[in-house]
Amino acid sequence: MVQQQQNTEDKLQYLKGVGPEKAKVLRSMGITTPQDLLEYFPRRWEFLPDCSAISAVEAGQEATVVGIIESIDFRNMRGRSLFEVYLADHSGSIRVLWFNGGYLKRQLNIGMTIAVTGKINEYKYQLQITNPKFKIVGAGGELDVNRLGGPVYPANSDISSNQIKFILRNNLDALCDGLCELFDNEFQKKAILLDRKAAFRLIHDPQDEQDIKKATRTLKYEELFIMQLGLAIRRYLSRTGQKARAMKFSAALDSRIRKRFPFMLTADQDEVVAEIIADMRSEQPMNRLLQGDVGSGKTAVAVYAALVAIANKTQVTIMAPTEILAEQHYINICRYLKGSKVKIAMLTGSMPAKKRKELLISVEQGYVDIVVGTVALIEHDVKFKELGLVVIDEQHKFGVDQRAKLRKETTPHCLVMTATPIPRTLAMTVFGDLEVSIIKNKPAGRGTITTKWIKPDDRQKAFEFIRSLLKAGKQAYFVYPRIESTEAENSLKAAIDEFHLLNEVIYPEFEVALLHGRMKADEKQDVMERFRHGKIQILVSTVVIEVGVDVPNATVMVIEDANNFGLAQLHQLRGRIGRGSSNSYCMLFSDSDNEIAALRLDVMCKSNDGFFIAEQDLAIRGPGEMFSTRQHGLPDMKIANIVEDFDLLNMARRDAFKLVKEDPLLQKPKHYNLRQTVISKLGGKLGLTDIA
Ligand code: ADP
Ligand code: MG
Repeated sequence: MVQQQQNTEDKLQYLKGVGPEKAKVLRSMGITTPQDLLEYFPRRWEFLPDCSAISAVEAGQEATVVGIIESIDFRNMRGRSLFEVYLADHSGSIRVLWFNGGYLKRQLNIGMTIAVTGKINEYKYQLQITNPKFKIVGAGGELDVNRLGGPVYPANSDISSNQIKFILRNNLDALCDGLCELFDNEFQKKAILLDRKAAFRLIHDPQDEQDIKKATRTLKYEELFIMQLGLAIRRYLSRTGQKARAMKFSAALDSRIRKRFPFMLTADQDEVVAEIIADMRSEQPMNRLLQGDVGSGKTAVAVYAALVAIANKTQVTIMAPTEILAEQHYINICRYLKGSKVKIAMLTGSMPAKKRKELLISVEQGYVDIVVGTVALIEHDVKFKELGLVVIDEQHKFGVDQRAKLRKETTPHCLVMTATPIPRTLAMTVFGDLEVSIIKNKPAGRGTITTKWIKPDDRQKAFEFIRSLLKAGKQAYFVYPRIESTEAENSLKAAIDEFHLLNEVIYPEFEVALLHGRMKADEKQDVMERFRHGKIQILVSTVVIEVGVDVPNATVMVIEDANNFGLAQLHQLRGRIGRGSSNSYCMLFSDSDNEIAALRLDVMCKSNDGFFIAEQDLAIRGPGEMFSTRQHGLPDMKIANIVEDFDLLNMARRDAFKLVKEDPLLQKPKHYNLRQTVISKLGGKLGLTDIA
């Protein structure tokens, strides 16, 4: 495999016009094989306007001509400056004039090729163009209109778009000839796709917009189809290969479990519980994503599922991304299970070696029912006697690749929880092989959350309002976009500076503490502990609290420079308040008059619905980070966009799943090329090595 990789890398270097130096540069841009080069798509295309030969233009006409600058003259005439150029092509030359064109001295030089568009007029029996629009189309002097314009590639200081263009032009025929087709003719026709050869050729060397459109559609479809095919195969594998313990379940068990909760499950929780039980009763491993806002009651559902697994004499692990969160789960679960025989243990990084060893042994021997800890610790260290259920709390991430890499003999059921609301259609598409459950409504009895955008003039009033709440025994979060102020970006409020201000000047009568990511784990833990117990009234922090805390008495949140946070992040932050029965207040401090910032802040003031906010976020700023495929454990899309190309994505998904139904592992000879492509593109990422 390594050998083969070496070979294809060599091939890149021996392409026409590449060589070892450029190959190195290309490699640093992620282009390691000829195929990668072919898939290095233009960012945009430039087309020259229809241009006329200089000798053919006539007075009164609006025309575009392209020529080389033969001479430049700059002079003052009756108080006005005049920039004069003679432009020549193969047919003749023409005078081009700009009044007040002094600024052009720095832009135009003799020998450059420029395109100018403007009205042709006659002055003293000579044609000229006055104050035209222009575009520099080449610095080099030669005038081959066919070589101008065309694709523009993402470039950097080591290699220019033009250099990439010429490498591709020089090798395009050979590279395209080497391509195999993925789809048969009949399918291609039905899906209105071009040949791959044609599509790759046209994307790099189109004649017009129509070519680009056709090629783009084909290549996007192909990319999306391969992704969906990978997901479909993985779904097939996860459903056939492995077996999980089919859990026994009864009405008696159900009512025993429900007695554990000091509340009735909500209708949404009931529905999700039913879906989870149905999964766990089957010997096909559960692979379910549970979405719900912070505080919607996911943990309670996870505890329900855990108790089903434990009643079936299997073990459960609950994993969180950070130690603070793991501890939170541990505390909550202990509370739910107080007085029961269930043995719960928490594995932490700071545990003394001896204690840790004892714990690991008792887990392996099956004496511990639930192990809580961070993903890293549990995946790395723990061996179970019989693991029946894995709960992964991803909090604000979610990944296709979330299945735990645990040391285990059987496949456990797997429940992934996330507080990031994503529109359902998108969730199903991106996850592809996951079942999705949603808790939409929070348990009743919560106070309301009022969100206000506070402008600079109202800050003082806001501070006083907060003071009254603190006096009444409530607690507050103050969140800042930075830890420390820096020279370059001192306009953003920084937690450390503001901590001093709040502590010493604004709220000297209250206990104020600082929490940020650079603090040591035990320091953080200590601050959190004191905040939880009400010994601290104001917690000043960076976004570290985003993943972390459940303090129902904290009912105030101030977010400084709120316009610097994304909508999703603001929503997550706000989820830290509104957890108890009192009303809560979220104050978005912002002095931005930027239009997009205003739109975002308005959405926050208007809505508490995570799904609505996610959709607005999508509408305002496009797919962004949150929906990037890399975030989902898939390779980056090179040309398609799962939001903008949603229709094409759905089509690709339907086709891919249909194909996998017919030929699950792509073993039929006619699917050979597809199979090779899926393995080479997604094999590692999606764990499809089994089919290789
Ligand atoms: P999540 O994990 O989604 O953030 P939790 O399960 O931790 O939510 O629940 C948040 C809070 O709501 C907890 O204090 C929990 O005790 C409470 N809770 C959960 N379900 C219910 C319910 N059905 N009725 C009332 N309170 C609930
Ligand atoms: Mg939670």
